[in-house]
Amino acid sequence: MGNIGSESNPLRVAIIGSGPAGFYTVSNFLKHKGLHVSMDMYDRLPTPFGLVRAGVAPDHQKDKSVTRAYDKSARNPNFRFFGNVKYGEHIHMDDLKSHYHQVIFTTGAQVDRNLGIPGEDLGGSHSATDFVAWYNGHPDFADLDFDLSQESVAIVGIGNVAIDVARILGKTVSELAETDMADHALEALRDSKVKNVYVLGRRGPAQAAFTPPEIKEMGELEDADVVVSSEDAMLDPASAAEMEASSDRNVTKNVAFVQEYSERSLTGKSRTVTFRFLVSPTELVGDDSGKVTAIRLAKNEAYQDEDGSIRARATGEVEEIPVGLVFRSVGYRGVALPEVPFHERWGSIENALGRVTTSDGDPVTGLYAAGWIKRGPTGVIGTNKTCAQETVNCMVEDLEAGKHFTPTAPSVDAAEALVLSRQPDRISYSDWQAIDAEELRLGGEQSRPRVKFTRVAKMLDQLGRG
Ligand code: NAP
Repeated sequence: MGNIGSESNPLRVAIIGSGPAGFYTVSNFLKHKGLHVSMDMYDRLPTPFGLVRAGVAPDHQKDKSVTRAYDKSARNPNFRFFGNVKYGEHIHMDDLKSHYHQVIFTTGAQVDRNLGIPGEDLGGSHSATDFVAWYNGHPDFADLDFDLSQESVAIVGIGNVAIDVARILGKTVSELAETDMADHALEALRDSKVKNVYVLGRRGPAQAAFTPPEIKEMGELEDADVVVSSEDAMLDPASAAEMEASSDRNVTKNVAFVQEYSERSLTGKSRTVTFRFLVSPTELVGDDSGKVTAIRLAKNEAYQDEDGSIRARATGEVEEIPVGLVFRSVGYRGVALPEVPFHERWGSIENALGRVTTSDGDPVTGLYAAGWIKRGPTGVIGTNKTCAQETVNCMVEDLEAGKHFTPTAPSVDAAEALVLSRQPDRISYSDWQAIDAEELRLGGEQSRPRVKFTRVAKMLDQLGRG
């Protein structure tokens, strides 16, 4: 048997998580010519692609076309997909150590951050991430219920997820019916009574986390007017100076869109999406039945901190907006994995350049991370490409330095047998392709991109394994 990484003794890698960071791990390994790598990708869901399937907005199909590149990686004969197999339930760290030389976690950031204000647990208060997963047909969220009989909704945060949620709430049924939104969400949104959507930023438009194409789209909705007051669109002197000095064109573009919206008049569309800046929620107010009825806001002023950043502080002025539904959209958070060092405050795996470390910063042999679970929930899909490349380079460097696990059963057959013994309903890539083909076929019948299966049992039925 040759060295590890030779044709007769390939490097065996387990990839935990099948989102963009997982697939960019595969494509980056495939670029290392001369290195023979055999990769098994695990996902707790039967379907691959992580947030490309369950996070990217259903009306942003172009962004979802990256999966064609992932399909190409999956065609490599040294790649296998083990879907419906959960790390920590079906397979454990000891299993991975005895079957692989290296393990990389690409599990993303699955939960949301809290606001930490009174009333956050009232009925009608939700995380945007739950709503996004629900309308995108993630099986774990298919049974959630959102009270869309409410006329007024607040979304806290001004990142792209907040924009996605505002856009979905602002679109008409005919706009939504062209998407691959889950059928249950389409049905619920068909009866939506939502009229007023408030998107609330604690800082000003120059500090918004949304990006220009997304804020531009808000002004193009068929039946919703976008509203910004001239006071809200005006930049404070520090932000104006910062924007002037900055080379970040996104900030200038964002501010230009917001200012253009402030000059618009209402056109009589049946809904409004109102952007408010320099307001921080301090409490969700509820009624006797425990349901949210209003959001209490502290008005802020911008100031420049010693480190130069523009921050917000309360002016003492307060206001209340009556709303029956609140979505907090203040960022995602990673979830700790069994036997993997985790930084609680950051919500990500402890690592250096993708090498998992102890809390003291010492590398843990054989373990790696890429994507949001490595660097936190920032950047666009493509950011994960360079992120995975950095980690894969470390993995190759460590292999050359002899730093890896010494598996007792490194053969592909041994891993397959283990998985089947633990999860007979494991989904292969060709199983997924059969599910995919059926979703596309059903979509074709309705002139939609696809109709998603939103239940694992239905997916198994489709494969004749019900
Ligand atoms: P994000 O971009 O980090 O935005 C979070 C927002 O929440 C910011 O406006 C932040 O304001 C605000 N915030 C944080 N804590 C708050 C608090 N306590 N009170 C009030 N506001 C608070 O997060 P995201 O929207 O979840 O997006 C995650 C990543 O996915 C981003 O990189 C995003 O660009 C990406 N994404 C991209 C697309 C797309 O390309 N179309 C779509 C969806 C998501 P401060 O700035 O003041 O902290």
